[in-house]
Amino acid sequence: MKIRFRELHQQPVEQKGEVALEGLEQESPDLLSLQPLQVEILAWKDRETYQVQGKQRTEGRFRCSRCLTPFSQGLEMDWFQAFSDEERVVREAEEEGEEIRLVQLDRPTDLTPYIREALLLGLPLAPVCRLDCRGLCPVCGVNLNHESCDCDTGRVDPRLAKLQEFFKDRG
Ligand SMILES: [Zn+2]
Ligand SMILES: [Zn+2]
Repeated sequence: MKIRFRELHQQPVEQKGEVALEGLEQESPDLLSLQPLQVEILAWKDRETYQVQGKQRTEGRFRCSRCLTPFSQGLEMDWFQAFSDEERVVREAEEEGEEIRLVQLDRPTDLTPYIREALLLGLPLAPVCRLDCRGLCPVCGVNLNHESCDCDTGRVDPRLAKLQEFFKDRG
């Protein structure tokens, strides 16, 4: 998805489109596939900067990090990025710890890197098919959501016990 910042000199721009991202599976091993993103952009000029607000949604197919079963999950994320064609503005922002991207006005700017970055930040770190997924038995490997077994799993890892308590409280 591309935007022409020059057009913002007249008025704010709204843009909608579909963006397909590729090669994400390498960066997120639990992600099996991803639908194209439905992206909505609102962009406007503010003094020497161009402000872009993005809203995007899609659906991903993940492998549950506990029971390894594939499942689909809707994803929605917002992002924001400021741009400027003045090096001075970019430098001054940097000194104040802000990030403004330098752009050239004589050609369209590709927003795909920002869409991709927001998506990666919005992916679940440890996707679960459902909050109370019981996972696989660490001893015999059966899926404890569907089956039970007689394995001795009494010695629960203390970190795991905390997590179990956490989900019980939310219960
Ligand atoms: Zn699961
Ligand atoms: Zn078992």
